[in-house]
Amino acid sequence: MTRLLIIGPPGSGKGTQAEHLARHFGIPGVSTGEIFRSNVSRQTELGNEAAKYLDDGDFVPDRLTNALVQDRLLAADVQAGFLLDGYPRTAPQVVELDNMLASKGHGIDAVIELRVPDSELEQRMLRRAQDEGRRDDTVDVFRRRLDLYHRETHEVVSVYAGRGLLVPVNGSGDPGGITKMAIAAVERFIDEKGERA
Ligand code: ADP
Repeated sequence: MTRLLIIGPPGSGKGTQAEHLARHFGIPGVSTGEIFRSNVSRQTELGNEAAKYLDDGDFVPDRLTNALVQDRLLAADVQAGFLLDGYPRTAPQVVELDNMLASKGHGIDAVIELRVPDSELEQRMLRRAQDEGRRDDTVDVFRRRLDLYHRETHEVVSVYAGRGLLVPVNGSGDPGGITKMAIAAVERFIDEKGERA
């Protein structure tokens, strides 16, 4: 039973690492960004409402985001564990997630923070823009997302650090090597926590 979060700035490779980590730990990955993008492309009601925020690099309003996560975390496949990617992104979302989990007596086991210097992020994003064509991968929108990350999501990292749950991982270098380091760091962290308990 493993409940993990992954946090990292835009362009940090968070989505890619999340997929590999989820597979390794045998848990479903839940990416709020992916869910929003899929709704936008299917033009669902949620997608139509969320599209302008995604296109501008802004946070989707909490009313929509919290409801989406709440709903997703009720599904059968995530009861035995999950890797949440992209949520919580603000301090109020941390409280929301706490409440969703507490109602079932669940908690988070570890929070992976992927660290990549700002100087590397924009170049990576531009490369990804050519490969994947994400609509929010333009220089202006990317800077907005990075700015929001520093202003809002750093606080989320501090909250989990204060709870002793943070597992920092160096996100520079070859993706396969980063995955191996992240797996090792999480396993070590969970083992040590088990020994202390
Ligand atoms: P990145 O981390 O590269 O910005 P994501 O795929 O995690 O990419 O998120 C893409 C977009 O989805 C965000 O810019 C935002 O508009 C929306 N989004 C995802 N998660 C959240 C969240 N927890 N709260 C608000 N908006 C979100």
